[in-house]
Amino acid sequence: MKKKLLMVLGPTEIEKDILKEGANSQEYMRTLDYTNKWFRIFDNLKYAFQTKNPVVVYATSGTGAMEAAVTNFLSSNDKVIYINGGSFGKRWGDICQKHNIETVEIPVEFGKTPNIENVKKYIEQNSDVKALFATLNETSSGVLTDIKAIGEILKNYPDILFIVDCVSGLLSEEFLQDEWGVDIAVSASQKAFALPPGLGFLSASEKALERAEKSNLRNFYFDIFDYVNNAKRGQTPFTPAVGIVNQLDKRLQKIKKEGLVNFRNRYKQNTLYLREGLQKLGFNVLAENPTNCVTAVYTNDVDAYQIVQLMREKYDIEIAPSGGDLKHKLFRVGNFGAIKIKDIKYFLKSLDKVLKEL
Ligand code: PMP
Repeated sequence: MKKKLLMVLGPTEIEKDILKEGANSQEYMRTLDYTNKWFRIFDNLKYAFQTKNPVVVYATSGTGAMEAAVTNFLSSNDKVIYINGGSFGKRWGDICQKHNIETVEIPVEFGKTPNIENVKKYIEQNSDVKALFATLNETSSGVLTDIKAIGEILKNYPDILFIVDCVSGLLSEEFLQDEWGVDIAVSASQKAFALPPGLGFLSASEKALERAEKSNLRNFYFDIFDYVNNAKRGQTPFTPAVGIVNQLDKRLQKIKKEGLVNFRNRYKQNTLYLREGLQKLGFNVLAENPTNCVTAVYTNDVDAYQIVQLMREKYDIEIAPSGGDLKHKLFRVGNFGAIKIKDIKYFLKSLDKVLKEL
């Protein structure tokens, strides 16, 4: 099959040296060398999350880490609030409901930024909740949530855990877990980390870990204490995804060397270039407050699904369709990973041709 240019929201184009790392022979993980590798990875993940808290690594996709954020820290019949501005915000509600947790939804119009005054009102009216769930970057719409502002409000409610999905927002957006008062943050390997899918990350504060002691939900594979305790000795409880972990190690070292701000800004410039090009072609960005690296656009009279198909079939570019009612109206473009300006130029030129054909 011909190689496709990945301008979806994950998996992403992977940098060449990181790809090569994944092709190396497997290593046995219960060794001193691998322990030292894990110590470096855990430290560098703390840098990525901007936290002093432990960050654990699960062999799972992002949703597994989300479920671990629910099942380790909450109990059945707890009540929680979740912000629902799209598929991923909704997922927090779905996971909680599956575990018999009572949910209060803050509905947010698709494409709009969660209104902080409204969030505050919900918290005031439901101050007995055990947690509030939010999404840094709602990948279905490309909307950024003001996590810092919600964290400020929650500083007045010490019994509410603040749990944030940073699956597509970590590294591409500013995220200061400790400073913003986030108790639990989850992310995954296949977005801005630009690694193969298969690793889920979860970082938990002391307050969250104290709460976890009281949880009555069951975990075996995802048991947070098993991972936190093993991390202290530079290990994981179960067989790690060795190949991806090696790639993670290398990638994190590169990111640290570049610095989080430089890293983000580099992607921001590409994102702005992409959006300018899309606007010149007549597309409007959906999001009120669009996030770095994820751009959702309405296609006006042109069929979005046909655009996605033609881009794939004729130009070998993958962009992401939308689901449900939006299937024919909205597509999403990602510029995570090794996407460069020359790729964006090729994408825009191809899109122009597709539009002319349609
Ligand atoms: N949350 C967000 C914001 C996401 O973008 C995604 C993946 N698109 C997920 C959660 C789910 O992650 P996964 O598909 O890796 O389970």
